[in-house]
Amino acid sequence: MKGKIIVISAPSGCGKSTIINEIMKRGNVDLRFSVSATSRQPRQGEIDGVHYHFLTEEEFRKRIDEGMFVEYEEVYPGRFYGTPVSEIEQTVNQGHNVVLDIDVKGGVNVARRFGNQATTIFIMPPSVDELRRRLENRGTDSPEMIDQRVGKAEYEISFASGYDHVVVNDNLETAVIQTEKIIADFACQ
Ligand code: ADP
Ligand code: 5GP
Repeated sequence: MKGKIIVISAPSGCGKSTIINEIMKRGNVDLRFSVSATSRQPRQGEIDGVHYHFLTEEEFRKRIDEGMFVEYEEVYPGRFYGTPVSEIEQTVNQGHNVVLDIDVKGGVNVARRFGNQATTIFIMPPSVDELRRRLENRGTDSPEMIDQRVGKAEYEISFASGYDHVVVNDNLETAVIQTEKIIADFACQ
């Protein structure tokens, strides 16, 4: 049987990576992470091929032309992100579930393309002020980048009603348990 596709989206800084990493660490559900490609610079500690496939903008555009992405978006001006076809196909064909950490437009596209093989989860911040605090505490982005990410949050939140599930990440443990349950329930449907 083919694996399922789980799309997780949220405004940047909301805690998606933290939640996904925690669920994978606990290992209660069969889940593989789809490593996206991006033309942005690696953050400190990010490893090529693990967190992202880091490409130049030129390499990224070449792969678009070669049809190597299921979907891609210019999430921020000049910074491209895309889901390689291979990341999904290999995993689901081997019967494993795959989780995609992608933006709201990418999420809509994947849901449309894969129908009921996919489910979508939106991680909601308790407030936009709290989102800013988390980005500041994370300490990985410049003040300008933080403004850009927070500025986009309200637009992204407007997509939440189109997602199959919404999880508020106020208390991290609660959010992890809720997200894990949604995935476990969907995986055995
Ligand atoms: P995203 O992947 O959505 O951009 P991260 O997972 O990197 O966000 O989380 C952003 C920051 O917020 C990190 O420093 C993380 O430790 C912190 N964080 C995540 N969830 C919570 C929470 N429930 N309460 C407080 N801080 C959180
Ligand atoms: P970050 O720079 O914080 O890692 O990611 C910025 C945004 O890009 C996040 O909303 C993240 O979900 C999104 N993103 C990451 N990979 C992909 C992808 O493959 N496709 C799309 N559409 N968005 C992605």
